[in-house]
Order: sequence, then structure tokens, then C-alpha cells
Amino acid sequence: MTIFSHIDLHSHSNVSDGLFTPTELVRHAAGHGLRVLALTDHDDTAGLAEARAVADELGIQLIGGVEISVTWRKRTVHIVGLKVDPDYQPLAEGLWQIRAGRHTRAEGMAASLELAGIHGSLEGAYRYANKGIISRTHFARFLMEKGCASEMRKVFKKFLVKGKPGYFEHRWASLEDAVSWIVNSGGTAVIAHPGRYDMGRPTMLELMEEFRSFGGKAIEVVTGSHTVDQYQEFARLSAMFGLQASQGSDYHGQGLSYMEMGRLPVMPAGCVPVWQDWPEVQALYESGR
Ligand code: AMP
Ligand code: MN
Ligand code: MN
Ligand code: MN
Repeated sequence: MTIFSHIDLHSHSNVSDGLFTPTELVRHAAGHGLRVLALTDHDDTAGLAEARAVADELGIQLIGGVEISVTWRKRTVHIVGLKVDPDYQPLAEGLWQIRAGRHTRAEGMAASLELAGIHGSLEGAYRYANKGIISRTHFARFLMEKGCASEMRKVFKKFLVKGKPGYFEHRWASLEDAVSWIVNSGGTAVIAHPGRYDMGRPTMLELMEEFRSFGGKAIEVVTGSHTVDQYQEFARLSAMFGLQASQGSDYHGQGLSYMEMGRLPVMPAGCVPVWQDWPEVQALYESGR
């Protein structure tokens, strides 16, 4: 066990599209040996207070986070904010706008599924959503319930993606807005799972350059959605751009995740961890665990 295996900076509760409540998620993390956990729900910080209360009880360091949906050059990109202040008005308002957009988008998705002969998906998807956001994951769970596909990956192959029933073009926040909401709230902006974006290397380099110019500080190097080769590839890119390296499972719950909590491999050598100056992690070193 190294310090690395105690840190997970990307996870979801049922405030967004995870299965666990914030309380259950933090308990799950503790049960899997984590000591530092960031809750990073999509476009919503409503789970942070509850997560923090449980984390305090269990002696886990809870990092207040969010994963913001961004449209950059017609592509969807996710930007994680770590140590954000959820009460910072421009951030809170920006996230509110994104959540409102999600409702409109959900209606468009349902209309598209209707045309494909799948009825009742709007209500069906909302039954899986809680008080927070409505997402494609909730539609996917409804489609599985209807027997349209047997597992998550298959649902996303047959539905909900470009060119398939249930897809609905949507414009998220701009990269500049998302990064500045995070940074101006006192947080650190991180490009989530860069290996998952369907873009060639020149475009990826431009994304990193632009992200950095807006005040972005880090990229995820080790994530549940990267291959072993991609750990190395993005370790090199982080060094090239002077961006710090983050790690997170992107845990959503049993059957929805690529990776269980507490299973992240050690970062490639030479990476500068995003937590290098964080007192929460210093405390871990000092306690010798
Ligand atoms: P949305 O933000 O509403 O577009 O939903 C995106 C979410 O859907 C992601 O955060 C994942 O949790 C989930 N998702 C997207 N693609 C897949 C996939 N191929 N397999 C499983 N889950 C996926
Ligand atoms: Mn998700
Ligand atoms: Mn994501
Ligand atoms: Mn995520």
C-alpha cells in the first residue's frame, strides 16, 4: 500500500448519476481503504455537505468537488473542480443553468426515443433521478429496465450516442466559464479522463493549451477510464504542459463503473500530484499511514 492508493479524486453519488447516497458513498470509500475522497457529482454540489459530515465522523478527508459538463469545439469535455466553494455565486449559478439545460435536453432525448417507438422514457428516466441532475445514465437505466439492452455499455452503443435513438445535441458551459468558476471559487481545475475524448493529438494539445491559458492546473492521468498505455501517454502530456496529475476511479456504483474504489494503480514516476501542497494529504503522511 502506498499513499497513492488512499486517494480518490473523482466519484459520483446519486445527486448525479451514481447509485449511492453521499453517505453510502463515503462509507463505501472508507470500507475500501480510502483516506482522501473527492465527491465530484456532475454539475451539482448538493451532496457535499452530507458527504463532509459523514467523512468527518469516519476520519476521511472529503474534498469538495464537481464535474462540469463543457462544450469545446462541438465536443463534450468534462472539467473536474477540486476544493471548490459551492457557495461562490458564479459557480452556483453556472451549475444551476447547466442543470436547467439538462431538463430541456431530457425532453429532446425522450422525443427522439418516442420516434424510435420507446414510450414513457422521460418519466422512466426521472424515476431513477433524485433531486439533482437528470442524465443519460438515468435514461440508460430505464432502457435496461425495458429490456432494450442487457448492460450499460450495450445501451450506450445502441442508444443515447450520436446517430442513435435518444441522442439530442446539447450545448454545455464554455471551457473558459467552467475553468473560471472553479478557479475563482478557490478551486483547482482538472481535465477529466482526457483519454476518453475522441480527438486527434493536435486537437488534444490545443485543448490542454487553452485549458491552461484559462487557469487550468491539472489533468487526470490515472482514471478508471484510461488504459495502462494511456497512464503513460497522459503522464507525458502533463509534464509537457507543466500540468499536475490527478487520479480518480470515477466510481458510480456496482455495474455502472469501470473501476471499484481503492484499486487505482500508482501514478507513473515523474508526475507532480495535484495534491502536492494539500494539507489534507500532508496529514496522511504525518500520521504515517
Ligand atoms: P450525460 O452527462 O447526461 O451526457 O451522461 C454522461 C454519463 O453517462 C457519464 O458520466 C457516464 O456516467 C455515463 N456514460 C457515458 N457513456 C457511457 C458508456 N459507454 N458506458 C457506461 N456509461 C456511460
Ligand atoms: Mn456519470
Ligand atoms: Mn466524466
Ligand atoms: Mn465522472
